[in-house]
Amino acid sequence: MGGKGAAAMDGSSCGLYVHVPFCVRKCLYCDFYSLPTGTEKLAGRIGSGTPEQRTFLDALELELKRLPNDFQPSTIFVGGGTPTELCDDDFSRLLAIIRSSVDTAQITEWTCEANPGTLTQSKAEMMRDAGVNRVSLGVQSFDKATLEFLNRIHTPEEAEAGYELLRSAGFNNINLDLIFGVPGSDLETHIEDVRKIIDLNPEHCACYCLTFEEGTPLYDLKERGFVRELSGDQCADQYHAIRQMLMEAGYRHYEISNFSRKDRECRHNLLYWSGGRYIGCGPAAHTHWKGTRSANVRNLDSYCKAVLKGKEAKEFTETLSPEEHARETLVMSLRRIDGVAFEDFIQQTDFDYLDLAEEAIERLTWEGLLDQSCGRLRLTEKALFISDTVFSQLI
Ligand code: SF4
Repeated sequence: MGGKGAAAMDGSSCGLYVHVPFCVRKCLYCDFYSLPTGTEKLAGRIGSGTPEQRTFLDALELELKRLPNDFQPSTIFVGGGTPTELCDDDFSRLLAIIRSSVDTAQITEWTCEANPGTLTQSKAEMMRDAGVNRVSLGVQSFDKATLEFLNRIHTPEEAEAGYELLRSAGFNNINLDLIFGVPGSDLETHIEDVRKIIDLNPEHCACYCLTFEEGTPLYDLKERGFVRELSGDQCADQYHAIRQMLMEAGYRHYEISNFSRKDRECRHNLLYWSGGRYIGCGPAAHTHWKGTRSANVRNLDSYCKAVLKGKEAKEFTETLSPEEHARETLVMSLRRIDGVAFEDFIQQTDFDYLDLAEEAIERLTWEGLLDQSCGRLRLTEKALFISDTVFSQLI
């Protein structure tokens, strides 16, 4: 783990997540909670947000004001949804209410997600001036047909222009998201995408395989026979080719789907991958705080009504037993390529991972899917693309 990553996992760090539940329109594959606003190509609109968006900001402001007194995050992640879908006035207010809810001097990393179709120079400057020091740009692909198939709102040219805009605004910590395993694409499509990314030279790249989640239009199309999923082997080939290219270009593969330049790992996400503490605000946002996990309701209206009445907007709250928490920490920690150190795990959870799952760990090691060496447990290269199968045997 790089120096900054290690700092994010020292047990004292915690993070704030803010969920902005609006998108211009829904991408074909998306199962995140967000509402389509239909504000196509009105990215620069000023002062014309919807009443729902203003009510959301009123509720969010109250929820942020009610954060526990002993919660002082070192990282902030503003995601969604599409934060940059908000109009200039609302976007500026969003950043201001987040700023006023934390001690900004303690913030080491503040990420905001941006969509190339709604990012403008004024929004890039607002982020920079508010203290956002990392932007995650949802590029997904530089292939026109792939973007159209996915129902993304932007073109490859807009994706590149969005990246350049962030650079000229002074951002020196940018993530680009990439999707592979897209029906109709082949290995060459994704190799071209990675070439383009290497050419642009962002500090971080997150690469995800397209998934067919029930309830999405993509899932329906598959069920009705209009779209065929790529085979597991095809997706695995694409994953390993992308991984190889990024590593050869000097990126460190530090988490199953994430690659970064030295010391540019996403510190906020490292909290998730180390069983760390975080509080989520906004509809559908998740929290892990003082041994309790909870999620806000996945409904904007219910969220706003509850928060504005001074109530909590929780859909569920659960307290994990120490053993359940330890198992969950084990699986999350194994997402990191460095895996987990035997001693650190005991210190963090009071459990020895061999006591938790000795039989499964030994079997998976024998199958060449886990590696136990130098006092650490980690996934092998062979297991990276089938990690969910490995994790299901450890939970
Ligand atoms: S922009 Fe992101 S959150 Fe919005 S619909 Fe597309 S994938 Fe979902």
